[in-house]
Amino acid sequence: MELYSGHINKLIEELAGLPGIGSKSAQRLAFHLINMPADKVRRLTETITAAKENVRYCRECFTLTDREICPVCASSKRNHQQIMVVENTRDLAAYEKTGRYEGVYHVLHGAISPMLGIGPGDIRLKELMERLQGEVEEVIIATNSSLEGETTAMYIAKLIKPTGIKVTRIASGVPVGGDLEYIDEVTLLRALEGRVEL
Ligand code: ZN
Repeated sequence: MELYSGHINKLIEELAGLPGIGSKSAQRLAFHLINMPADKVRRLTETITAAKENVRYCRECFTLTDREICPVCASSKRNHQQIMVVENTRDLAAYEKTGRYEGVYHVLHGAISPMLGIGPGDIRLKELMERLQGEVEEVIIATNSSLEGETTAMYIAKLIKPTGIKVTRIASGVPVGGDLEYIDEVTLLRALEGRVEL
């Protein structure tokens, strides 16, 4: 016998498929949604749909943006010869919050992970190498200090070295396995300032 209605079960199942949502949270959220006023639920679903339809990848750095070129890439105040490579848009946002980084970014959307079967072709690496055809002075690798982040950093460094472009890695004052977005701004700045050449 099913405990809940089919619709609630389906909702719980969908919510439980989201990252960081366990089955208990999924149940709590499902019941919360059911108890919400209809117009609020409609607004939420419309917001999700609109975000999905309107958000795209920046043509230059591949961050998520509403425009063809994101505000960072579009800015003439930024140093376009310095590219910081991050794993995702959240990491970019963490560095932007410090307000002190003046270069531009490149968002990989993942990291190399042989265990999970994620290879170099599965992240935006080819696009990074294409960008390096232009005038670039330095590539700062700011992937996480997890095994995947380090593997990715080493792989990128090896790819870029022959081009003669300076490759640096943010300092490892960042806690091991720490997601960049959870690290405070002071630590991020220290990691950036203490970067070493690879
Ligand atoms: Zn961009």
